[in-house]
Amino acid sequence: MRLLLVEDDVMVASGMKLGLCDAGYSVDWVGSGERAEQALDKDSFDLAIVDIGLPGIDGLELTRRLRARALTMPVLILTARDALQDRVQGLDLGADDYMVKPFELPELLARLRALLRRSQAATSAVLGFGPLEMDTAQRRVSLAGQPMELGPREWSVLEYLLLQAPKPAAKDKLLHALTGWDKEITPNAIEVYVSRLRGKLEPAGVALRAIRGFGYRLEMLARTDDGQAD
Ligand code: CA
Repeated sequence: MRLLLVEDDVMVASGMKLGLCDAGYSVDWVGSGERAEQALDKDSFDLAIVDIGLPGIDGLELTRRLRARALTMPVLILTARDALQDRVQGLDLGADDYMVKPFELPELLARLRALLRRSQAATSAVLGFGPLEMDTAQRRVSLAGQPMELGPREWSVLEYLLLQAPKPAAKDKLLHALTGWDKEITPNAIEVYVSRLRGKLEPAGVALRAIRGFGYRLEMLARTDDGQAD
C-alpha cells in the first residue's frame, strides 16, 4: 500500500514516516500542497494523509482539489486541537476521517486500516494466484492455506506481481512500487526481493519467471508424476 503524506513539519513527518514504514506501508512524503499535486500528477496512491496547516495551498484546499480531480482514494486530515471548524470543513470537502494533533501512532494505524478496508472493499481486497492468496485489507498472505511471513518490501513486490498476474510485471514498475521506501534503491535491489520470494513460493509450485528485458511473471510450475516441481 502506497501512502502520500503531506506534512510541512519535518519532525512530525519523519516520525510518522518511520512508524508507517515499520507498519509495512510505502510512504511518499511531501512538505507542501503544491508538491502533493505534483506527486499526484505522476503517481497513484492508496491513501493520502494531509495536514491542514500547510504553507501555500493549505490542506483544506488540497482536499478540495483532490476531490475535484475525481480522485477517490481515502483522505485523512490532520488538524490542530481546537480547530473544530477545520475538521468540519475538511470532512465536507471530501476528507474521510481526521486525526487531532498530537496523536498516538497506534490510533493512526488503526484508522488507516479502517479507511483502507472500506476503500478496498469497493474493489477486491483479496488477490490470488494458484495456491497464493493475499488479503490486502487484513494484510495477510497465505500459500496453500499456510500463513506466509513477508518483509515489507517483499510484500510490495508480491502485491504488484499479483495485481498484474497472469501478465508480467515490468521491472521499472516494481521498482516504482518500492521507491517510497528508499529513494536510493537500485534496479538490482528488485532481484534481491525476487530471489527471496522465489525461495518462499517455489516449494508450493509458484514460479517467478524472469522475462528478459522486461520484468517478472508469476507462473505455476509444471509438476511431474512423482509430485516434484520441474
Ligand atoms: Ca503544519
